[in-house]
Amino acid sequence: MYQCRSCEGRNPVFRSRRMTVLSNKRLAYVSCLLLLAITPGCRREEEAVVAAQVVTTKTGIEMVAIPAGFFEMGSGKEGLDESPVHRVWVSPFLMDRFEVVQEQFKKLQISDPSHFKNPKNPLEQINWTDAAMYCNERSLAEGLDPCYDERTWRCNFEANGYRLPTEAEWEYACRAGTTTKYFFGSDVRKLKDYAWFKDSSSGKTHPVGLKKPNPWGLHDMYGNVAEWCNDIYLKSYYSQSEQRDPKGPAKGRDRVLRGGAWNSSADACRSAYRASDPSIDDTCLASDAIGFRCVRNAPNKVSSEPNMTANNPHNSASKTGLVYDDIFLEHKTTPGHPERPERLIGILDNLKAKGLMDKLTLLKPAPASLEWIKTIHSQQYIDRVQESYRDGTAHLDSADTPISPKSYEAALTAAGGVLAAVDAVMEGKVDNAFCAVRPPGHHALENRAMGFCIFNNVAIAARYIQKKCGLSKVLIVDWDVHHGNGTQAAFYDDPTVLYFSVHQYPFYPGTGSEAEKGSGKGVNYNINVPLPARSGDDVYIKAFEERLRPAALDFAPDFVLISAGFDAHENDLLGGMAVTADGFARLTQIVKAIAQKCCGGRLVSVLEGGYQLKGLTDSVEAHIRVLMK
Ligand SMILES: [Zn+2]
Repeated sequence: MYQCRSCEGRNPVFRSRRMTVLSNKRLAYVSCLLLLAITPGCRREEEAVVAAQVVTTKTGIEMVAIPAGFFEMGSGKEGLDESPVHRVWVSPFLMDRFEVVQEQFKKLQISDPSHFKNPKNPLEQINWTDAAMYCNERSLAEGLDPCYDERTWRCNFEANGYRLPTEAEWEYACRAGTTTKYFFGSDVRKLKDYAWFKDSSSGKTHPVGLKKPNPWGLHDMYGNVAEWCNDIYLKSYYSQSEQRDPKGPAKGRDRVLRGGAWNSSADACRSAYRASDPSIDDTCLASDAIGFRCVRNAPNKVSSEPNMTANNPHNSASKTGLVYDDIFLEHKTTPGHPERPERLIGILDNLKAKGLMDKLTLLKPAPASLEWIKTIHSQQYIDRVQESYRDGTAHLDSADTPISPKSYEAALTAAGGVLAAVDAVMEGKVDNAFCAVRPPGHHALENRAMGFCIFNNVAIAARYIQKKCGLSKVLIVDWDVHHGNGTQAAFYDDPTVLYFSVHQYPFYPGTGSEAEKGSGKGVNYNINVPLPARSGDDVYIKAFEERLRPAALDFAPDFVLISAGFDAHENDLLGGMAVTADGFARLTQIVKAIAQKCCGGRLVSVLEGGYQLKGLTDSVEAHIRVLMK
């Protein structure tokens, strides 16, 4: 609750509002784009830079384009009204970069109710209905449709004008991909860098934007003034919340407040902290610790405002990423070995020749940090990989996995490349990505290299998605002609990773029977579809439609990974199957549709096998063309 400090002699804010608001109708272009260097949620903080799109509205207010996505809302421990933690989908929207300030109110010629007077300070002593009314005025001033019915205060979420954020939108934007107590982590000592709160405010509000922003470039999400949300407050709401764009309970007296204020404790500034206040229409009771910021739906479907996104450089290019680095060519295998650098050279040359290269967003990988490699492999094994070549060893663990001086670096970078692709998808830089990496990964076990594989790139990425990005469930689809025994082993008892493999059987590496369904809690989260040699497109498509699709939709993944081996191609040197490039395109369509249905299209595909160059390059091309559509 927030206490009113000073309200003597205050006038109702909106007494003569309709007469004056349209006088400020200087309609500037809604096009000014700034690229801000900010820290994204899913990346090591010190390294990460992502472009956030800032849009300046017709009335000169900066808003940040917030990408759509899932997040885990609430907190399991901190307070009863914050639990249970539940997964929520939020559609894209624009959010004010700063809290609404006093000069913005004056610009619309509305009297300023604030106690701490300063044009750049946040507006305060504003009750919920007056905040909603300001949203309507701002909409009208910009020629947009007001969202609020001023008799009932119901919000029309379909309107293109301004409104208060839903509680889910507020927390999603505040967290900006983070899952920690605060968006900067859990160290409360850092809060003073980001917030004017009890220990840093000297008992008053301050001009907005002076403290550091959150990872998506939003300022003052913690402290300064608590912010009204559109939602009605209900303590038990999280146990009944909808998953998709939840809009709060239908009835109640109080409205939600978020973010804490200048007089709040550090605890009340946490991302998940919920507060409330009566929404009664009486300015005199409004607190000088309460303000707000506006949101509106992402305008890309609004035909009257094509400029809003037209200048975004990402929109004209394809939203498919390609991970590649020359270090992958430095992993040398023995003469005549089918897993050779020419595989990647062929893939890239073909993409260039077909004019696809320029349409892909190139993603530069860095070696994965050992923190992530260790989620799948033992330290002892990692040390062994690193030392093996120096020992003069020509093979790692088995004769089929040759190594060279740069193999360790290449293997780390192959895994890091997949993590870079995950980051790019999470940040909205691309919709999906293909990783042209080697050495491949799906046979690699915790303590052992095998089948040309050193580190299990896809398995490491699955753990990264869970631990770093905070997503719960990952689907791995493996269509390499060989069974991915390493990936199966990594998640065999884990119900949070659904592993689906279709492969030739019996065949190398010998695992992959239908009876291998998982163990313990992981039973039924491991699906093997063993197929006889010479199986072609029809058999594969049938397996994907009848076995993969229903299981995947039931599982409802938050992210989809593909172990994309193309050695089931009809001309492959090692495989005995009869899949064509068109067949791989069709399989890609099915998996992409699953990702679109379940998790906003989040999909990263990772090269595994594929050894006949023409079959490989044709198949990769067909695969990427579907990803780009
Ligand atoms: Zn294979």
